[in-house]
Amino acid sequence: MSTSSPPISARPLAAWSDGQPPSGPWALRGALLWAEAAPTGCSADLSTCPTGVHQHEDGLLVIEGDKIIEAGPAEALLAARPGLPVDDRRGALLVPGFVDTHVHAPQIDVTASFGAQLLDWLERYTFPTEAGFADEGRAAADSAAFLDLLLAAGTTTAMAFATVHPHTSAHLFAGAEARGLQLLTGPVWMDQHGPPALMVPPAQSAAATAALIEAWQGRGRAKVVLTPRFVPSCTREALATCAAMAAAHPDLHIQSHVAENRAEVAWVAALFPEARSYLEVYARHGLLRPGAVYAHCIYLDQADWRLMAETGATAAFCPSSNLFLGSGLFDLAAARAAGARVGLGSDVGGGTSLSALRTLGDAYKVLNLQGQALHPAEGLHLATLGGAEALGLPCTGSFRAGDTADVVALSPGPNPLLRRRWGLRSSPLDHFFALMTLGDEANTAAVWAAGQQRVGAPPTP
Ligand SMILES: [Zn+2]
Repeated sequence: MSTSSPPISARPLAAWSDGQPPSGPWALRGALLWAEAAPTGCSADLSTCPTGVHQHEDGLLVIEGDKIIEAGPAEALLAARPGLPVDDRRGALLVPGFVDTHVHAPQIDVTASFGAQLLDWLERYTFPTEAGFADEGRAAADSAAFLDLLLAAGTTTAMAFATVHPHTSAHLFAGAEARGLQLLTGPVWMDQHGPPALMVPPAQSAAATAALIEAWQGRGRAKVVLTPRFVPSCTREALATCAAMAAAHPDLHIQSHVAENRAEVAWVAALFPEARSYLEVYARHGLLRPGAVYAHCIYLDQADWRLMAETGATAAFCPSSNLFLGSGLFDLAAARAAGARVGLGSDVGGGTSLSALRTLGDAYKVLNLQGQALHPAEGLHLATLGGAEALGLPCTGSFRAGDTADVVALSPGPNPLLRRRWGLRSSPLDHFFALMTLGDEANTAAVWAAGQQRVGAPPTP
């Protein structure tokens, strides 16, 4: 068993300036694992990759500017590109930056709040915390802290709730731009069943969303999201205003919550007795479509799943949140059987970690409780390319030529059990399963977003 890193090669690093890569082509060398399609033919033998997923124990990822040029076996690619500057990360596993399809930027300080399920948890912890973002200085500082934590977990693309305050979304976009992150966010709409400090008339929410579109839509990697909190937070007038805005902006992303908790489902049934189901309330308002993401989707029936699939809406699977808040078990097989789009969500602060690895570990357990085994290739796909495709984001979540160079170097880190497990076998796919079972953000050795290194030690000369 060996847990030490192989020796670092002496390839030229003179082109690096202030720790940042050269302007021409350069490469990362290490074990590579990435998905180019949904995996098929998954087996228990983790030394071989299913179709759709690629692995190289000694791989090379060639990058220029903010783009991937090519990925493949190191020896062959180096022979074809003599003199290529190489940042040698052998001993680490390089995977595409993670895609978090559901997270709440203002809720990092809500994590690990004791003793409540969804509706009490919102009242007791979440709403008071979000109300504090009325102070713009706090909104700016906490947004920056959130983005730094996201990067430290290896997440380079996220669809995030902001707060009701327009300045929170603006600070998030500015901070994401400075860090090279792909961020989708927007002001939260809520005008009932919450504290007065968070109540915003629908016309005001619409104006805030419109102003954000004007300032940020199409700028760099920013994408504005229409964000009704969930049905109980929105009056019929708010939902109608949302519906009009969605219709006027057919390409706008949408995010909300559905069918997370039994008490919530019963509440929506009382609020909308005419609707067949909770999900159908959104359908009636034209809020189910490609680019619309609904967190949780636990209490959906077959007709609901068909509706998700037919409309092209996405379910955000948030296993750590669903376990922590005692909400229930997401049925991935039902979603897949219906042909619905699915992404992975940390749902911090209901979720307990921004790490896609920890979230996948919880996903494995949630699914195993239902007799479904989450293969590491499926987990990788869900946390990278699958999430990106579910959000309709091109050039994201993979190492195809032309993809944006978002890369995470994962290492066995300080956990002695994981270090021992890592040394038992050498397959990148097997290492990824060990990471998703035993790992977290402590396993992030380095992160590159849009081709620039943002986290971790600079290259070793
Ligand atoms: Zn949520």
